[in-house]
Amino acid sequence: MKKVHNFNAGPCVLPKQAIDAAIEALKDFEGTGMPVISVSHRTKEWEAVMDECRALWKELLNIPDTHEVIFLGGGASMGFLYVVENLLNKKAGYLETGVWAKKALKEAKGLAPQFGAEAFAVASSADTTYNYIPKGYEIPTDLDYFHITTNNTIYGTEIRYDMDCPVPLVADMSSDIMSRPVDVSKYAVIYGGAQKNVGPAGVMFAIVRKDILGKVDHYIPTMLNYQTHIDGGSMFNTPPVFPIFVMKETLKWLKGIGGVEAINKLNVEKAEMLYNEIDRNPLFVGTAAKEDRSIMNVCFVMAPGYETLQDEFLAFAKANGMVGVKGHRSVGGFRASIYNACPKESVQALIDCMQEFEKLHK
Ligand SMILES: *Cc1c(COP(=O)(O)O)cnc(C)c1O
Repeated sequence: MKKVHNFNAGPCVLPKQAIDAAIEALKDFEGTGMPVISVSHRTKEWEAVMDECRALWKELLNIPDTHEVIFLGGGASMGFLYVVENLLNKKAGYLETGVWAKKALKEAKGLAPQFGAEAFAVASSADTTYNYIPKGYEIPTDLDYFHITTNNTIYGTEIRYDMDCPVPLVADMSSDIMSRPVDVSKYAVIYGGAQKNVGPAGVMFAIVRKDILGKVDHYIPTMLNYQTHIDGGSMFNTPPVFPIFVMKETLKWLKGIGGVEAINKLNVEKAEMLYNEIDRNPLFVGTAAKEDRSIMNVCFVMAPGYETLQDEFLAFAKANGMVGVKGHRSVGGFRASIYNACPKESVQALIDCMQEFEKLHK
């Protein structure tokens, strides 16, 4: 198989151990003589997968009993709707830090009139193409919830701490979940798509504080009601069995290498290596405000004077086995997504590539 260094933003690199386990399970799931995608989800073999997956989430993130974790179809974009349907009664505030945050806010704004409610941006960094996290804003104390996007996948900024919030805090953690320890007790809801750090596309996770539910005046469609899925153990309807299986294996891998404390250390190391090179190399410049730099998505462009070399660098990187370093179409330049499963050697290979390119053009 061709050796590549995968920096895709999502779907993205997953641990080999999880892929191998998935291949095995597609051949013969737990000695059933059937692939994991052909067994009934109402069997003890499948229920054991669900139980183990849930248990891994609880153990790795130290989820308190006040919260429940559920697995749902639809992806993080569906998650935007769940938040609004379950929590918006009168007023919601959003921190607009990127495209995903804006899309989440759009759903809230769109649905709010039906509920006699309103939703708005408390602060935004749209003025400078979302290259920083707004600070010094005040969160109104009469909100049903305040919504943040902890890692802005497209712009490479991140809120890497658990903020104090006077109202229920809701976080889209699609692209930095399980990258660091999180104080779950500070959040009313944490949700996201699996395909950045915890598995393949096709499943999303939601960690929900149970006492936050049941407080809105409007009807919540059954499938969009967190309670339905808490009560049903994420099996109210047929769950996305294969993505959940691979997610379970991905978390097993994470536990095996020391959990979120260990991966956080490694993630910080990888990010520092790459940012140091960007800051050192005269050909490149980072796009995110330094204090808000993401450890998951590293965004950079050609430095002033070298702009015309962009396509050449992309071709050079590709020829050297780098995959997915092209920036999102809305920002251009480059983006290296260095999620949990991206090995340090891939980061080093990209750095080597940048240094080689520098030698060619100095
Ligand atoms: C990728 C991403 C999404 C969208 O996820 P889907 O599962 O494709 O709907 C939402 N929010 C963030 C922060 C993301 O990185």
